[in-house]
Amino acid sequence: MQTEEMRLDGNAAGGALREVFAQEMTGAIATCAGCGSVSPVGALLEYGQGMGVILRCPKCDVAMMRIALTPGWVRLDASGITLLLSAFATLSYFNKADRGGHFAAWEHPELFAAELCAAFRWLR
Ligand SMILES: [Zn+2]
Repeated sequence: MQTEEMRLDGNAAGGALREVFAQEMTGAIATCAGCGSVSPVGALLEYGQGMGVILRCPKCDVAMMRIALTPGWVRLDASGITLLLSAFATLSYFNKADRGGHFAAWEHPELFAAELCAAFRWLR
């Protein structure tokens, strides 16, 4: 039975999602397999009761994700999601240089040094 009184938003599933993904996932972007709409996981509709939660699409009500927490196991069924996008939890810098290959430091040392400076600029 799923009533409006039992409904929360997807942010309430943050703890259960962290058990599966080992990082914050309520900001991840999920594409619904039912209607193709795109929503942050935190904006999905959560119905939780007992030992699990169901996250439903706010547009078409398809069950996008089911998480069951049992003693010793976490079970995730994400068959209602066609694509889940999540940013790296610890990535602080990314750039694809316009030149250089596998041995970029030997091929273009000035470019490699500039990239290192840019990557660690936030520490200054
Ligand atoms: Zn949908």
